[in-house]
This record gives sequence, structure tokens and C-alpha cells, in this order.
Amino acid sequence: MGAVTPLTEHVLRGMAPPKPEGDSKDGRGCVLIVAGCTGLPGAVLLSADAAMRVGAGKLQIGVCRDLAIPIGIAVPEALVVGLAQTEGGGIGRDCADDLVERAGAVDAILTGPGMSEDADTEAVVSALVRGGKEAAFVLDAGALVALRADPDLTRSLSRPAIITPHAGEMAKLLDLDREAVEADPLAAARRATERFGTVTVMKGGRTQVVSPDGRAWCYEMGHVGLAISGSGDTLAGLIVGLLARGAEPEAAALWSVYAHGEAGRRLARRYGGIGFLAREIPAEVPCILAEVM
Ligand code: AMP
Ligand code: MG
Repeated sequence: MGAVTPLTEHVLRGMAPPKPEGDSKDGRGCVLIVAGCTGLPGAVLLSADAAMRVGAGKLQIGVCRDLAIPIGIAVPEALVVGLAQTEGGGIGRDCADDLVERAGAVDAILTGPGMSEDADTEAVVSALVRGGKEAAFVLDAGALVALRADPDLTRSLSRPAIITPHAGEMAKLLDLDREAVEADPLAAARRATERFGTVTVMKGGRTQVVSPDGRAWCYEMGHVGLAISGSGDTLAGLIVGLLARGAEPEAAALWSVYAHGEAGRRLARRYGGIGFLAREIPAEVPCILAEVM
């Protein structure tokens, strides 16, 4: 098993995302975020903000019907589509055909933040994967249910999907105890990559990133203040935004993990420690990227 490379600025500069093609928004790619439920609309906002702050050119959002207008007002940059809705206020499986078509017309897709792990989510994720064969994917939180149901789900994509579980989600995904994942998060990440063929971002106080080609990186410079609700939603948004800009999956994951951690450090300095908010993370990112790139 290969060594683990500490994630430093030097490493990042060796894998910088490509320069935008031309100077139009089309050259920086189109993101589709399918996420949220009536009880967790904020996950959509946080990931959408992050995707735009990392420089994606265009943004589409798919949410359950009741959220379409409030999300459209809260994210004026986005084209928002209201989708079928379950009784529980999640996205319903009846929108699958619509999603298959939509997924074929965008560059990068994030699904899962604020979604529950149920059969409707499973159907929604699998429709996105069916339609978005040429798109780059991030599966987070609730969307991981689809990999539990079909470990080969994303293997037919044109490039590896990225998964972003925290220890509890990883434990469920691999049928392990949370303690076992926490005792050796790198081993868990490697196992997930092997089983699902994904780039795996194993989140925590230390974050491990593993590529299907065996490379692995570890980042441990974040701030404990990042352990707040909504924090992971912003990370997932950063990743999908960089994917839309044309970054390779490993580069998108590593640049995002670094920018997220560094944003936490800067906010902690400004606020004197913990107490900053997940919604404050995305606005830190443009300057961080500009300084490191
Ligand atoms: P989530 O649990 O999905 O909201 O994701 C939490 C985010 O915060 C991930 O990016 C973690 O890596 C990060 N995080 C959680 N705890 C810590 C910590 N103690 N120190 C630094 N970063 C953390
Ligand atoms: Mg999360």
C-alpha cells in the first residue's frame, strides 16, 4: 500500500485546476445541485454558495416543489427547478425522467446534502448517474444510500465520482462500527475506494483523500471550529464547483479540502476561536484560491 502524502500548498500547485477557456461563464462550467428537503433547505444554500465562490460559471438547482421559490429567492444566481415531492418533504422519485435529461446537459453534479437515506433518494441519485455519464459527480450525505444499494453504480461514469462521508456515514457505507472507522480512517477510505471505485474524501479533524489509482493524501491543518452543522455541505459545494471548472476529481477534492480548512483557520482568527458559521466559509475561498494558485 502506497505512502500518504501530506496535503500542502506545494502539492496543490502541482495539480492546479485548468485555466478557464475564454472569458465567458460557459468556460467555467455548469453545476447542477440536487439536494435538500423541507426540513433542511439550508444545505442547498450552503453548497450552492460554495460552488459559485469557487468560480463555477453557471448554477442549476433541483429541489422539492415547496422549496423552489424560497431557494430561488435566496440564491438569485441559480436557475431553480421544483421537483416531485415526497410526503416527508424530500425529492420524490417521480422526477427521475426529468433528472436524466437535465444531468446530460451540465458539467458537474452534486447530490445528497440535506437528503434522507431512503428509496426516493436512491431513485433520484441513480437517475442522475444514468443521465450524467459525461458529468463529474459528488455524492454526499443522503446520496450515499445509492452506493449501498449498488456498489457499482458510478463505475460506468466517464471519470471516478467523489464521495464525501464523515465517520458515521462511512461506517454505514461499509457496514462497520463508527469506532472502527475512527480508529483507522485511512483504511476505511481505501476500502471505500476499492469497493465503489470512487475518489474518497474521508472527512474529520483529519481528512484523508484516496484515489482509485492508489494515491492518498492527508490534511490535518483545519480548525476545530469547522466541526459545525453545514460545514460539510460547503465542502461538497466547493468540490462540485471546481469539477465544473474542469479540475480532475483528485485535484477538485484536494483543493477544496485545503480551501475549506484554510477558511476555517482564517475565520477562527477573526472570531477568536470557535463560533463562526458554515455560511461564512464560502466567502473566504476566492482569496485563498488566488493566493495559492
Ligand atoms: P459534515 O460532518 O458533513 O458537516 O462535515 C464536517 C466538515 O468539517 C468536514 O469537512 C470535516 O473535515 C470538518 N471537520 C470536522 N471536525 C473537524 C475538526 N475537529 N477539525 C477540523 N475540521 C473538522
Ligand atoms: Mg454532511
